[in-house]
Amino acid sequence: MYSLKRFSLLILCSLAFLAYGCSDSSTSADTNTDAPEFDSKAAPGDSAQSFLKSNQYTNLQVEIDYMEGHKPTQEALNSLQTFLEARLNKQSITLSEPTLIEPSGDDSQYTASEIRSMEEVFRDNYTEPGSSTLHAYFLYVDGENENNSNVLGFAYYNTSVAFFGQTIESVSGTPPTAPSEEKVESTVFRHEFSHNMGLVGNGTPTTSDHKTEGSAHCTTDGCLMEPAVETTNFFSNFSGSVPELDDFCINDLQANGGK
Ligand SMILES: [Zn+2]
Ligand SMILES: [Zn+2]
Repeated sequence: MYSLKRFSLLILCSLAFLAYGCSDSSTSADTNTDAPEFDSKAAPGDSAQSFLKSNQYTNLQVEIDYMEGHKPTQEALNSLQTFLEARLNKQSITLSEPTLIEPSGDDSQYTASEIRSMEEVFRDNYTEPGSSTLHAYFLYVDGENENNSNVLGFAYYNTSVAFFGQTIESVSGTPPTAPSEEKVESTVFRHEFSHNMGLVGNGTPTTSDHKTEGSAHCTTDGCLMEPAVETTNFFSNFSGSVPELDDFCINDLQANGGK
């Protein structure tokens, strides 16, 4: 998903450039005192420090929208909250009450650009200049990824993640024959937010050699950030518990301002 994401972003940037220039992803957030505009359409990982550190944003609010039949389970949201609290230096982390959205039309496959268009329509909360609250957006759609039906979720902007309900449902079931929906969701929610924290080597520099070739993932088998975790392949053989970040990934986050 990583290269596709980059590609789409490239197209988006090319278009944006015509109008007002492509966003620069360099780290300006920490030093500016004149409350610059927060760019909510930067690449995943570009705001890693905004998530990890507390010097500028002491609070995180996650807006959650879902399509009919795909309300995220409370257990998985609790699991995500626990994970974010463990890794991010924030005074408060709030996940909003999930809101049902009803896009017009009837689609079962979504491209990355359709997902971005939906955010344009349904997202209500953005990080305001000078505010101490960082806003993120979580979108749970009812179909699958049009370009890769194996993908369960993806991070598509610096503060935005989306999940594919149909695909998540297809790998979920009744233990022990299949992992519960709660477990699949917990895993994928945590994985995609980790991309926005800059893992692996994509916004948060690596402190050791554990980045996969050509994608922002971890080489450690069993790590939350191993590449397969966001695909159906992982869950066809999945038993046991939600994977944790390994020490390499945690060390990277800590070195970049996280905990
Ligand atoms: Zn991933
Ligand atoms: Zn790792």
